[in-house]
This record gives sequence, structure tokens and C-alpha cells, in this order.
Amino acid sequence: MIDLHCHMLPGIDDGARTLDDSLAMAELAVAEGITHILVTPHHKNGSYENVKNLVEKKTAELQEEFDKRGFALKLFPGQEVRINGELLADVENDDILFADLDNQYLLIEFPTLSIPHYAESLFFQLQQRGITPVIVHPERNQAVIADPNVLLPFIERGALAQLTASSYVGIFGKEIAELSSRLIEANLVHIIASDAHNTRGRSFHMREAFDKLDGEFGIGKMLDFQQNAKDMINGDVVQTEAPMAVLNRKKKFGFFKKRK
Ligand code: FE
Repeated sequence: MIDLHCHMLPGIDDGARTLDDSLAMAELAVAEGITHILVTPHHKNGSYENVKNLVEKKTAELQEEFDKRGFALKLFPGQEVRINGELLADVENDDILFADLDNQYLLIEFPTLSIPHYAESLFFQLQQRGITPVIVHPERNQAVIADPNVLLPFIERGALAQLTASSYVGIFGKEIAELSSRLIEANLVHIIASDAHNTRGRSFHMREAFDKLDGEFGIGKMLDFQQNAKDMINGDVVQTEAPMAVLNRKKKFGFFKKRK
């Protein structure tokens, strides 16, 4: 498996604090069957700034530690970039790490509570430059939780989205797990990644998530998601299915109630 979102580099964000933490995470990842990890420390999220050079250096150092210990895990440097007004300039100055070496897929985080009004125009400008924005964990954004269909225009215009494995398997509660299923069903998310921060509350859960995906949507969907992650990190075209509006289950329930 390929994991495209992971806070595994030691001591630079709220993920692994020490090398021992990173090694413990690596052991878990390997045990789950993860072979490649894009390390994605927070960048410009209000608490952490992890510039490209630092991430590249730290990734190479951690890879060396893994190699020394014979861990069969290949790391790639990345960033989880919080959407911000400097993003376009940073991209143009080559200060941003993408999911792939061709600088096509950019992991972008929305703030927890909202989707900024300038997101659509920023995405448009990125896409004009051949960059595909990949919205990370939309299922944990309050605006998406309130109305999942706020995602639809972004995906219709070619953005992609990353669902977090732990969300899907219920670590953040039933509501987020249910929303995750609805987003998969409506083709509003395209890859599953761990967003692992540690080996305890915020672990990988990738094997569990792919097993659930297989059980809920079939092996074809599971293989599609795994292929999408591969295509993304290789800088190849990610094949997507047409996004749809999410059915509002609550309203549907209300409808039946009224008819009683
Ligand atoms: Fe993250």
C-alpha cells in the first residue's frame, strides 16, 4: 500500500516527536503492508512552517535510519499545505512540495471550520498552471460535515480529495464514518491515506480501511483507490468517476416521518 499523508518526520509538527516515535510508526506501517509513504508535515497551518529544504533533509535522514534497520519502507518528501494567500507565490518560487516529482498533485488542507471564499479562484489559478489540488480529509471539515455537497463544485472542476483511513473506520465517531461512506459512494473522494500522527490515537488504520472499502463497495473500488494513490505519486493521470450529489439521508428520514 501507498500512504500519501503521514506525519512521521520526528520533531517538526504534531506527529512523531522523536526518532523512536518515527521508528515505532514505521514498524506499524510495515506490519499493515504499507510500502511507500509520502511524509507530509503541516505547512503554514498557523502552528507549523516546514519549508521544502527542511522536509527534504529530514526525509533523507529518516530514510537512512530505516535503511540501517532494514525497514522495507520508502519515503518521499511532501507537505500538507494549509490553504493560504501566499500559496500561488510559494508554488511559483518552487517552495512547495507536491505529492509527485512532476509537481502536479498538491495536497491542500482547508481550515477545520470552513472553506475559504477564495478557494475556488485559487484552485482555478493552480489548475491553469497544470496543478491538481488534492483536498485532504474533507470529511473532517465542518462545512463539509454540515453539507457534503459543498465539495461537489470543486470535484466537478477537477480537484481530487483524500479520505482519511481512521475517519472511515470510525475513529472520529459514527457521523464521520457515515459521511466517509457517502463521499466514497458519490465519487467525491479518490484516495485513502492515513494522516497518521502516532501509534496510539492517530495511527494508520490503512489495512482496516481498505478491508472496509472492499466489504462495502467491492474489490473493484478498493483496487481503484489503490491505483489512484499510485497514479498520484507517479504523476500519472488519476482516473475518476463522475461526482454526484450526496443524498441527504436526514431529509429522507424526515420525509418518511411526515408520512406516518
Ligand atoms: Fe495531516
